[in-house]
Amino acid sequence: MKSHSNLNRRRFLQLTAGAATVGLNMGQVRAAETAHVVVIGGGVGGATFAKYLRLYAPEVKVTIIERNRQYQRPYGSSEVIVGNVDMDAITISYDALQKKHGVQFVFDTVNGVDFATRTVSTEGGQKLVYDRLVVSPGISFDYSKVPGMESPEAQQLIPHGWNAGDQLLALKKQLDAVPVNGTVVIVPPPNPYRCPPGPYERAGLIAQHLLDRGDKHPRVLILDPKNGFTTDVTMLQAWNRLYGMNLPKPFEKNYTAEQLATFKKYDQPGVIEWVMAEEGGRVVKVDAVNKTVETEKGVIKADMINLIPPLKAGQIALDLGLADASGWCPVDMKTFESTKQPRVHVIGDACIAGDMPKSGYSANSQAKVVALQIKALLAGQEPIAPVLQNTCYALAGRSDYGMFVADVFRQNAQGILKRADQPRYLPFNASEAQYRLSAVYLHAWMDSFTQDIFA
Ligand code: FAD
Repeated sequence: MKSHSNLNRRRFLQLTAGAATVGLNMGQVRAAETAHVVVIGGGVGGATFAKYLRLYAPEVKVTIIERNRQYQRPYGSSEVIVGNVDMDAITISYDALQKKHGVQFVFDTVNGVDFATRTVSTEGGQKLVYDRLVVSPGISFDYSKVPGMESPEAQQLIPHGWNAGDQLLALKKQLDAVPVNGTVVIVPPPNPYRCPPGPYERAGLIAQHLLDRGDKHPRVLILDPKNGFTTDVTMLQAWNRLYGMNLPKPFEKNYTAEQLATFKKYDQPGVIEWVMAEEGGRVVKVDAVNKTVETEKGVIKADMINLIPPLKAGQIALDLGLADASGWCPVDMKTFESTKQPRVHVIGDACIAGDMPKSGYSANSQAKVVALQIKALLAGQEPIAPVLQNTCYALAGRSDYGMFVADVFRQNAQGILKRADQPRYLPFNASEAQYRLSAVYLHAWMDSFTQDIFA
């Protein structure tokens, strides 16, 4: 372990005095003073963690290893596809983390960890020794479960666009080439996946975009392996109003008779159609070259397909053996320490966090908790009982028509993170003004959230 180069004498005396009050020995104080925490991934989870650990414990050295020199945020990225924002708007610099918060960066790709010697190695040949390792590598994609999509060629023809990057521009190009009143097919992934309302928001944004460019009756068809999704009750209400979508019969049971009576009935299919699993929405085969999708009910010819395959934890987490058979990483939900490797904490989309959805908000909330826990662990103190939060905002399609779901999570007696109460949604009888206000909240949140992580 390296010695701390700028150990400040006053800070040291403060710590030793504090240590005496909480009963720490000098070895533990020295450990906190000289500790090095390494973070794999400078996305939402990794960057929030690094910033907050530096704020909570400035004496700890924190190094992020990140493969890209700038972060392209996935949250809000569907707006690039429809041209509401450009790539610059979702591209974020790491300057403030480095200059303002003293986070060290190594721009390289992690390709291994020797857990015995606590050494992380990179493709560029760097080796970093850690006291604690935080792993927040996001997601990877499992095409083995989608017949027709196994080859890199097929995956290039049908980009998922679920990790930001150039795939968004490829999808934008495809959308621009959709003929007037053409058919766009969206295939959401099965649970669990990154950003539960995300594929549906994308469908809404695309429908609105096609209407805005003048199409009278474009078709956005959602072929779903599921029978429901987060915010579905409010989203379907909005689509019924905005895009002439008839409510799928099997879904009616989710509303009271009084609520059902408020839905309009249309003679023809709406601009958005949602084919739930129960009605044959499950995709069984894709022909990427001819742009056809086969479902349990038949074959559909599309002008554009956006298929998001089943997801798993980021590849490096899989390679390091941090995931279980589900493809996600089990952790102790108090400290997010891996149940597979001591001193390694997995946060963000890659971890299994009970009821918490895989969202940026969750990753940010987990990162702040883990910063506190690691600060305590380095000082030989007990970790706290955590309280975590999530709010997922989504647009129905129009950028002034928003909705949300908000949750608080605590550990139950078995240590599993559970919702502390019922999730809170926009009420069913929300006024048009409340929908507009939710969209304002969404955009304000996106800005302040990005500042919270990276500024
Ligand atoms: P990421 O943010 O993906 O970060 C992972 C980082 O690890 C990346 O920078 C990657 O380059 C790096 N990395 C991976 N492997 C290595 C390696 N081997 N070596 C070095 N670096 C590596 N969330 C919300 O809360 N609200 C929203 O409104 C919302 N909207 C969304 C809309 C869309 C269309 C999508 C796709 C997602 C949305 N999300 C939203 C989800 C949110 O973006 C993710 O949940 C969040 O980014 C997860 O953070 P993470 O740290 O786990 O992963």
